This record gives sequence, structure tokens and C-alpha cells, in this order.
Amino acid sequence: MTYTDSHAHLTSEAVYPQVEEILRRARSMGVEKIVNICTDEKSLERGLELAGRHPWIYNTAATTPHDVEKEGESFFPIVAARARAGELVAVGETGLDYHYEYAPRALQQEFLKRYCQLALECSLPLVIHCREAFADLFALTDPTLAAVLHCFTGTVEEARQVVERGWFVSFSGIVTFKKSEELRAAAAYVPLEQMLVETDTPYLAPQSRRGKPNEPAFLPEIVDLIAQIKKCDPREVARATSANAAKLFPFIKL
Ligand SMILES: [Zn+2]
Repeated sequence: MTYTDSHAHLTSEAVYPQVEEILRRARSMGVEKIVNICTDEKSLERGLELAGRHPWIYNTAATTPHDVEKEGESFFPIVAARARAGELVAVGETGLDYHYEYAPRALQQEFLKRYCQLALECSLPLVIHCREAFADLFALTDPTLAAVLHCFTGTVEEARQVVERGWFVSFSGIVTFKKSEELRAAAAYVPLEQMLVETDTPYLAPQSRRGKPNEPAFLPEIVDLIAQIKKCDPREVARATSANAAKLFPFIKL
């Protein structure tokens, strides 16, 4: 059985010093591709270098909605240059977070729009982070964009709107938490054809590893849980989510 982790922060400060062991463990569990999410200049530089050494690692980049006030402006041209050079498989994670609201909403919206334009210009998909902001997200994004809602934590109704747009919905370890009944209902609703899975390493370790740093090797626990919800073989979930990732992200090395 082989897996694709559609969202991990391998080159963040917390993970990067151990990245080679983490990748070895991922490989031994059957993780065949990892989409590495770069959120600043340093993690992007490391990501490009890491992908050079490990051709099964792919990079995306953007300033998260949390940090747009601090470094949105300085990082944007760097992301744009890498995207135009064909070095990224997506633009993101970008989006709106009204739960934490670390940056003013208007500024989050402005960067979301700029990243949407960049994705359209480069024919790249968008990796979207959205918390408690679905109405504004749908109003501000071009429905013709290809996109994934990463670490989905919305309602079944919000999942329905994402699915109707033709976007992918990505489930993280949160779906394995005891209290996540509503999220499991959303996972039951989202068709396998539009589903991705992710660890969001180093955050959100699944139930059996809760409180520990997360890593791509823990992805099978999420796949197994989704298979239970869907009443199907985990192999089918692993196969479908890997095929979907390959449909969404241009996994081609220059
Ligand atoms: Zn993330």
C-alpha cells in the first residue's frame, strides 16, 4: 500500500533537523510522495534543496494568513519567482483564519486574492487554509481555480460547497480525535474522488500519538480511519487519495 501526504511542513524549524530520519520512516510506511508546505524564505530554500536530494518531495509556498502582516509583502515576490520558474506544485497555504485572526481580515483577504491571481497566471492549484471564514473564502476566490481545502475542519454543509466547486477536501489527524464526530460526518459525505489526506506535520498527530510531534509515517492511521467511515478497504482510500493528489498537483520534475 502506498500513500501521498498532501500537506507537511518538513522544512519548518521544528522538523528540519530530523528530516532525513523522518523521511526514512515515511518511506518505510509506504509514503511515496510528500507535498512540503513552505511558509517563509528559509523553509522554501530548504524545501528546494530537499526536493533536489529527494525527488519524491514537492514544494508549495506562500505566507500563511497568520503571518501576512509581518512578512506577506517581502515573501510574495520570492514565491512568485519560484512559481513562474516551475519550481512549485501549488501556491499556498494561503487563505483566511477568522478563528485566530492573527492578522487583520482585510489584509488576509488581500493576500488571498494576490495568491489566487498568481496561481491562475502559473496554472497552479491553490492550497487553502480556512477557519471560520467560508463565506468570504467562496466570495473572494475564482471558482475556476483548482484547489484543496487543507486540514478541513468545517461542517458537512461547508464540505458540500467545497465539493460543488470541484475542489478537493483534505483530512488530517483531527478526523481521528475522539470528539471529531462532526468532522467524521463531513468525511462520510465527501466522495473519495475529491478527497486527499495529510499529516500537517509537525502539528495534529493522530489520536494514538496525540501530544507528540507528527510526521508523515503516521499517515496510515488517518487512512485507516477514513476507510472505516467509508466502509471500504484502506487500500482503496490510499489509492484514491494518491491518484487525486497526482491529478491536482503537477508532480513532474523538470
Ligand atoms: Zn499547514
